[in-house]
Amino acid sequence: MVDKLAVHGGPKTIDYKIDYQSYIGEEERQAVDQVMTSGVLSQYLGCWHPDFYGGPRVKQFESDWSAFFGVEHSVAVNSATSGLIAALGAIGIEPGDEVIVSPWTMAASATSILVWGAVPVFADIEDKTFNLCAETIERRITPYTKAVVVTDIFGHPADFEAIMKLARARGLKVIEDTAQAPGARYRGAYAGTLADIGVFSLNYHKHINTGEGGVCVTRDADLAERMRLIRNHGEAVAKDKPMSSLVNIVGFNFRLTELQAAIGIEQLKKLARIVEERIATADGLTAGLKSLKGVEVPYVRSDSTHVYYIYPLKVDFTALGVSRTRVAAALRAEGVPVEEFYENVHRLPIYQNRIAYGSKGFPWRSDVYRGDVSYQLGICPTAERLYDSTYLGIELCAARYSDRETRLIVQAFQKVWQQLDQV
Ligand SMILES: *Cc1c(COP(=O)(O)O)cnc(C)c1O
Repeated sequence: MVDKLAVHGGPKTIDYKIDYQSYIGEEERQAVDQVMTSGVLSQYLGCWHPDFYGGPRVKQFESDWSAFFGVEHSVAVNSATSGLIAALGAIGIEPGDEVIVSPWTMAASATSILVWGAVPVFADIEDKTFNLCAETIERRITPYTKAVVVTDIFGHPADFEAIMKLARARGLKVIEDTAQAPGARYRGAYAGTLADIGVFSLNYHKHINTGEGGVCVTRDADLAERMRLIRNHGEAVAKDKPMSSLVNIVGFNFRLTELQAAIGIEQLKKLARIVEERIATADGLTAGLKSLKGVEVPYVRSDSTHVYYIYPLKVDFTALGVSRTRVAAALRAEGVPVEEFYENVHRLPIYQNRIAYGSKGFPWRSDVYRGDVSYQLGICPTAERLYDSTYLGIELCAARYSDRETRLIVQAFQKVWQQLDQV
């Protein structure tokens, strides 16, 4: 005899809200204390001066980041959104260019393209990893394509060897949006280091955080310098600093403070352990859920590790004969934090209405744009099918489950699956 479902008034499997357990601790507190004592909470100057590149903790954080990820240059910024904008500016994206991007990502992966007056072009994702792949990218290349933004979605690296090969052959730059995959591995290298520029996030939902923050990494000294200029009012130093090009050197303030850098230095030391714990939790969920009818547990390609920003399931609700809405409601009633949807960015009103900068449809309806992008439903069938019917994610990004909680989540799924006819 199984318990009545919580959605029908039975006992909840998890009868409390699983709290966000922060990895911010005494180390971060002490680091912040030292900055407070110094009295200098941020040490940037927006003119040509040694402090143009920030204060001691920003510089320390950047060199620690480079050492950890095995890259030459790290550029700390105040968010991954800022980082994506800096990266796209640095590679020379111009108004009217097309940049290929995933529809299955956070909105900022695409809006950062619009910021430069360029046009996001959505390519479909592969079903297994939810990532862009070389085949779907290739189908979207036009004479106007300049670059691709590839997200390592949910913590699984995209297949960058094939993507970079295609990009090199077609003269495209590649930005890796690795906001969700810090510490993930691909063929021995870290995610984030696999493209021309990688962009990490340090917002409070991500594996490690500084409240808000981000880091761009690259092996290219020129791109790194251009990102530092975009970060800090580059146009204001152009009189005094020799520059190879003024293109896209416009005045943003993307500066990370000394307080945040001090926290970041401590958070980076914890990344490996946080990733290990995430993987252990996900493995526990996989062991418990993989035999449930109609459920496909997360795929991990043999050359990669998955760091599980979200724990993504695919469920054949048609075969189960129940709607996703009802199953999700039943799971939530049992106390399991599930999400039925992930973004289909091309469906957002900004693309459907083609209104972004100003009221006249720029950049789509303008002299600079000569292409003919489509945002019609049907352009990304895999992403749309997942959104409409088969995706079900278990929240992990803002959660840290104990072994007991992992077991209870599995039990809740089992309870619901045993009574699907009641759902
Ligand atoms: C969180 C996130 C971002 C934006 O990060 P911020 O630091 O909040 O600006 C960009 N891309 C993806 C895939 C993300 O998950």
